[in-house]
Amino acid sequence: MSLDIETILCRAGAMDNYSYLLTDSASGISAIIDPSEAAPIIKRCDNLGRKPSYILNTHHHFDHTDANLEIKNYFQAKVIGAEADKRRIPGIDETLKDGETWFLGKSKAEIIQVDGHTIGHILWYFPDDKALFTGDTLFNLCIGGLFEGTSKDMFTSLSKIKNLPDDTLFYPGHEYTIHGIPFALNYSPNNPELQNYIQLTQQRLNQGLPVGPISLGIEKQCNPYLKAQNLSEFENLLGQ
Ligand code: ZN
Ligand code: FE
Repeated sequence: MSLDIETILCRAGAMDNYSYLLTDSASGISAIIDPSEAAPIIKRCDNLGRKPSYILNTHHHFDHTDANLEIKNYFQAKVIGAEADKRRIPGIDETLKDGETWFLGKSKAEIIQVDGHTIGHILWYFPDDKALFTGDTLFNLCIGGLFEGTSKDMFTSLSKIKNLPDDTLFYPGHEYTIHGIPFALNYSPNNPELQNYIQLTQQRLNQGLPVGPISLGIEKQCNPYLKAQNLSEFENLLGQ
């Protein structure tokens, strides 16, 4: 593992966003994913002596980009986001498209476009580090709402996630696990993997820790929206 990942809770108790501080250990170069609130991010970076060179956005929504300009100015960082969001991400300097590769020092990221929550939402996937930043597309036991895309877009996007290796750990944009539990339990009340997941959720939240990261292998067994085999099953889950 050459990528160090720190989870930073932002907008705590309100929207419970997660920003992530990534550091490529080979070069010491850092980046912040989705800076939603400046104070907790600056505090953590200063404590760790890190000075992020980049801000990486998953999508344009304000609760993922609100602190872009403040973090950009404080650390003299460059903002990178999707080409599709180039007119709606504050402070954007560089854009990337689906399938493109980007390097944080020596750590390779692949851009995967996942329309649905928004059109042009991207995943930041670090294949060698088995880390996937899912923004508001995939949460623990649930998924993001369809603000701009269709159910078909979202189903296609989730299929892209399902095709990634099971041992990939995913890092969501919000701590929403607790909201996903009732529906997941109702969907498969006798799933032992889900029982373990719920136990782990309670343990971690009781300790004040993020529930994630969880492996895609476990998520595929427990998240109803990843279990849907076809579009009509998926639309049934969405209540459409
Ligand atoms: Zn969003
Ligand atoms: Fe969000």
